[in-house]
Amino acid sequence: MAEALEQQLQLALPNEGAVDDAINRLALGDEILKDALTGFINDSILLGTAIAQREINVVYGEGKQLDDLGLGDIAGDAIDWVTQRVGTLIQELGHTSRDTLRKLINQWKENDLPFSELLSTLQKAGWGFDLRRAKMIVETEATRAFNKGKLMVAAASVLTMHKRWVTAGDEKVCPICVQLGSVRYSAGEGVALPADFVHPGGSGAAEQFAGQLYQQPPAHPNCRCKIRLVVLGLPVPQLS
Ligand SMILES: [Zn+2]
Repeated sequence: MAEALEQQLQLALPNEGAVDDAINRLALGDEILKDALTGFINDSILLGTAIAQREINVVYGEGKQLDDLGLGDIAGDAIDWVTQRVGTLIQELGHTSRDTLRKLINQWKENDLPFSELLSTLQKAGWGFDLRRAKMIVETEATRAFNKGKLMVAAASVLTMHKRWVTAGDEKVCPICVQLGSVRYSAGEGVALPADFVHPGGSGAAEQFAGQLYQQPPAHPNCRCKIRLVVLGLPVPQLS
């Protein structure tokens, strides 16, 4: 992902002569970006579907998990979802990238600096193609796709399934998610699949999120939370 963003930058701004056209040239890197996004988002959603099937198999018996819907149908739906998500992301990323690039190029022109200075400012400013941004996109979108995959399998299951919100459980868990993850449910219950998780609020920073709705993780950039599937009325499997 980081390489894809860097390649996009190189295509947009190969030399000083390309500066005036750099905004338009950003689109040249869209295919590279699309491939990079599709790769890991596909992997994540398929991992989510595989893990959901395994969890249901282990606890409730092989072959119990799906209705007439075959695995092929779920894979097909997953690929459709990924294609759509990647399209949205390309638009969002393009928007941010164009804005940042435009601002920094204008600033560079006003100050009449050498081209090398523009490049180094772009790098230093974390101008939208930096590693931190790439990592954030990967983490957030992998979380989204993984949980989407789990929910797709749950929705296709013959069992009546609910979902719970599970945090990564380490010190990096944010105030948004720690509260979502600490909601207590009755045995064998959670939130119905089509319903949203409702943020319960809490003290300190969590208070402002009270009442916010989330269909699934991520709740925020860099969110690493997971959906845990439960079968209504049955004990919750002790699986990740
Ligand atoms: Zn989270």
